[in-house]
Amino acid sequence: MDATSFSDAFTELNSRCIKLVGDLSALRALSDLGRQDSRDEAALLRTAMHILLENNEFERCSLFLLEGGTLTCRTGLDWRETVLTTASPHPSPREFGLGEGIIGLAAETGNLQHCRNCREESRFAHPDAGQGVGSLICVPVTAEGRVIGVLNVSHGQQDFFNEHHERLLEVFANFLGQLIANWRYTHQMETEITRRTRELRTALTEAEELKRRYQQLSVVDELTGIHNRRFFFPEAQAALANAVRHRREFSLMMVDLDRFKRINDSFGHTMGDKVLQVTAALLKGQTREGDVIARFGGEEFVLALPDTDMDGAARLAERILHSLRSLEFSTDQGTLQVTTSIGLSCLGGQEVPDQSDLLETLLRQADQALYFSKSHGRDRACSWAEIRYRM
Ligand code: GH3
Ligand code: MG
Ligand code: MG
Repeated sequence: MDATSFSDAFTELNSRCIKLVGDLSALRALSDLGRQDSRDEAALLRTAMHILLENNEFERCSLFLLEGGTLTCRTGLDWRETVLTTASPHPSPREFGLGEGIIGLAAETGNLQHCRNCREESRFAHPDAGQGVGSLICVPVTAEGRVIGVLNVSHGQQDFFNEHHERLLEVFANFLGQLIANWRYTHQMETEITRRTRELRTALTEAEELKRRYQQLSVVDELTGIHNRRFFFPEAQAALANAVRHRREFSLMMVDLDRFKRINDSFGHTMGDKVLQVTAALLKGQTREGDVIARFGGEEFVLALPDTDMDGAARLAERILHSLRSLEFSTDQGTLQVTTSIGLSCLGGQEVPDQSDLLETLLRQADQALYFSKSHGRDRACSWAEIRYRM
């Protein structure tokens, strides 16, 4: 080998080495891309095309993905865009069917298609498709053994690509297929996890709302909407304990509608229910925020009144008696008026050594005062303090 041939061989070897390094760089960059967190498949594919053009001397590349038997262009790049940021003057068709044109053939057969002279190529599906293209390689992109698209690489020169390019593009398309499959798998999982998380959150909110409603239902009287005795006892007990601890006033009031049975009998149960609802609303309207009001049973209500002494409780009782007395219920048989009897008991702010059954004691006292009101004409209020020596 003479010096010139040696020098030529060396130059050839050198340029092959440079190309090889370029090819490896493209593959390395593509595999790095898989590790990056890309939210957008289109952006991922476009970056892959950039990598391909930047590391090789190809002029144009595009990626068509196969969906429902149609190959649709998802991304395309012309070297002018990478260098000059201007688009190719020869836009390509956007869609091909399976077997249609060289792209379609690559997808249908699963084999690389190499067109060395595009100007004389009879397989071009679109007459203009070969414009500005000298040579073209279409490589099927596969994932899990299935063709999912076609990678197209072209050059303005005829017969530009060699066997080395074919091998490189096959490896690149392989990497690309894997990249797309991984991206879709990861994002499908993410989407699924997001969907399931949203579903779970909704179910949890519904369950909490249901729990809250059931809890409320169990302490709320269905007919009147005020609390029932299940709610009353712990609440009244807590209010009473607080009053004892701080030597504050505390009163209890029992309210029982007069001759309610007659109302039911004369005006019907529905009217009786209405009277109960109106009475509950009236009691609520007459009391303060911290008072505990409950329907104790039938036509009987109980009120725990923190920070209320006997005078205060008596004044409240009079207001209730008056308000109820003043109400007029219109019925088929004319106007109905309702009265109630009230019994009161009071803690009186004194020291209480044993409070274990204090609430029961106060309730019993209020009940006895109520009984006194009933037996002394109804439509009145009496306190345990007044009647204790008269029983
Ligand atoms: P008093 O003046 O002595 O309290 O007489 P009263 O008729 O009010 O008392 P009694 O205990 O004899 O009757 C209470 C009635 O309340 C009997 C019951 O049918 C009625 N009652 C209890 N709960 C309800 C209810 O939810 N709706 C209706 N409409 N009536 C009810
Ligand atoms: Mg009654
Ligand atoms: Mg009663």
